[in-house]
Parts: sequence; structure tokens; C-alpha cells
Amino acid sequence: MVFDKTGTITSGRMTVTEAMAVPGTEPAELLRHVGAVEQASEHPIAAAISEAATARVGSLPAAEGFQVLPGLGARAVVDGHQVVVGREKLLRDQGIAIPPGSASRWESWEQDGQTAVLVGWDGQLRGAFAVADTIKPSARAAVTELRRLGLRSVLLTGDNEVTARAVAAAVGIDEAIAGVLPADKAAALKDLQALGHRVAMVGDGMNDGPALAAADLGLAIGAGTDVAISAADLILLRPDLTVVPDAIALSRAARRTIRRNLAWAFGYNVAAVPLAAAGFLNPLFAAAAMTLSSVLVVANSLRLRRFRPARDAAWTPIRTRRTLAGRYANPQGACSERT
Ligand code: ADP
Ligand code: MG
Repeated sequence: MVFDKTGTITSGRMTVTEAMAVPGTEPAELLRHVGAVEQASEHPIAAAISEAATARVGSLPAAEGFQVLPGLGARAVVDGHQVVVGREKLLRDQGIAIPPGSASRWESWEQDGQTAVLVGWDGQLRGAFAVADTIKPSARAAVTELRRLGLRSVLLTGDNEVTARAVAAAVGIDEAIAGVLPADKAAALKDLQALGHRVAMVGDGMNDGPALAAADLGLAIGAGTDVAISAADLILLRPDLTVVPDAIALSRAARRTIRRNLAWAFGYNVAAVPLAAAGFLNPLFAAAAMTLSSVLVVANSLRLRRFRPARDAAWTPIRTRRTLAGRYANPQGACSERT
């Protein structure tokens, strides 16, 4: 089970937690430039940065020639400067020098599972932003449940290795494939398939549509993008990730039912048809038996309606003091909110 990170394991609603301007760069100018570029991008990181920039400097200048560099960042011309926003690799590729030693400024962010977004123009690094996302509370439970079902989980992300490892560790995933460009996500799945694995992919479609289509089973988060919904085999109607193991468990139950029904129907006919042909079965009995067999198959299938996902009796985490007080005041409410 391959999980995308941003928007799948994490909520995808990002916020800027720290911002720094390189010595010699005016913070207001940095914010105006980065805000102008990110305003034009629809990436969740961009939304967080342009929101933070607008909050500090008010209106943002216009960006010209805006260009998305999928899985890397974006660039545009602002006030006559070619402003580049994104990963360290992107800035280097765009000819922006990263002064030696400056990486220590953002390495600690990455170790915390945050994403470092760098900004530069005119060949120089100008600033860095830490962008944080929240891990969905359901992610760890989903990974645990999948392991119980015998499935291995892998994190696949365009984000850097350090952030990917931190997020994977936080949800109990052992294996992370990081720094994968959107176009290469499908290839990463094919590599897993070439190793003989059957691969399912869960994504929100922001840069992972091709991977959803390439997987043996594509699961799209319903709140994701249209491309995810059209490329996937299965659409999860809630962002809650525990529906992933539930879907696997339900499909296994359905397959067991199909097998049992086939065994019944075939076994029955294998026994009864020769008997009837040899004249040992009254045609009236045979007709009744045929109907009964259909009723059996339908009744067996209807038992699937009673399917309930198995959950180990884990302690229910209670989120805030306020709800705790509310729950003590209303014990019935406490029960109804349990999952
Ligand atoms: P994921 O695989 O986690 O969903 P993406 O492939 O969408 O991530 O993006 C990979 C990385 O590219 C991000 O972690 C970020 O560093 C960078 N990036 C992409 N788009 C932008 C943007 N508009 N602004 C800044 N950085 C970006
Ligand atoms: Mg994503």
C-alpha cells in the first residue's frame, strides 16, 4: 500500500511556521516577491505562503510569466526579477547559489517533518520558509490495521528525504521513497511491481494521478482533485484513512463470499445433475432444489451487509480538555463519538 504524503497522510492544509530573510534582503520585499509567485500556484504549500505574505504586507504585486515546475516549485517575474520558489534542488538548477553552511538553517525544520521552501532571485538565495502540515490522526491506525491484514505500507513523496522519514516514522511506516518527481511516481510503482509486488496507491491527485492509474488498485481521497477521482478505482468518501484497511477487509470478505457461492453452486450441480440425468431425482424435487440453491447464494451474499470492520480495542484518544469536560458532563455523548 503506497501512500502519497501531502494531502493523503497529512491534511494538506499547510501553515507557515517560520520565515527568514537572508542578510541584506528586506523581509517585506521577500514576502511581496514570494507571495506574488505563490498566489498564482494552486499547490497547498503555495496557499500557505501567499496567505502568510498577504497577512504581513497586504496587497501583493502581479507576477508575470508564471510557471509551475511540478514537484519542485514555481517561478515568475515580479518587479522585473525572475523569482524562484521551491526545493533546494530547483534553486540550484535555476542558477541560484546556496551559500555553504546555510542549509543548517532549514535542516532542523526537515527533521521535524516540516518542508523547507527556499526563495531566490538574481542568482542569490533570499529567504527560507518552514511550512508545516498536520498528520491525520487516522494515519497511524490505518497503517497498523493494514499490517495486521498482511499489507506493507510505503510512503511516496516529492518532498525531501529527511521530511519524508520524519513523517513516515510518525505514522509507523518503515519505508519511504522521497524526492520523486510527479512524472516519476508511476515509474516508482512500476519498480515495485517489477519486484513481484501487487501495489495499491492512495493519493489525493495533487501530482499523483498517473501513479493512481498505474497501480494495481488506485484509491483516491474523495476531497482530492478531479484527476484523482477519474484515475482511481476506488474513491474514499472521507479523508479518514482507516477506510483504506476497511475497504481491503470488505473486498476480501466479498471475495470469500463469491468463492463460497461458486463452491456451493458447482458442488450442488455436480452432484445433482448426474443424479437427475440418471433418473434418480424427481423433476419436481430438482426444480425446487435449483430454486433453493439460488436462495442460498443470495442469502449468503446478503450476509455481507453485516460486515463490520475489525478494530483492535485501542484506547480512544480524546483531543482537548474542553471536549473532555463536555464528555464527563454528558457520558452518552462520549460513547456516541467513539469510532
Ligand atoms: P507530495 O508528493 O508530498 O504530494 P509534491 O510532489 O506536490 O509533494 O511537491 C514536492 C515538493 O516540491 C514539495 O515538498 C515542495 O518542496 C516543492 N513544491 C512543489 N510546489 C511548490 C510550490 N508551489 N511552492 C513551493 N514549493 C513547491
Ligand atoms: Mg499529494
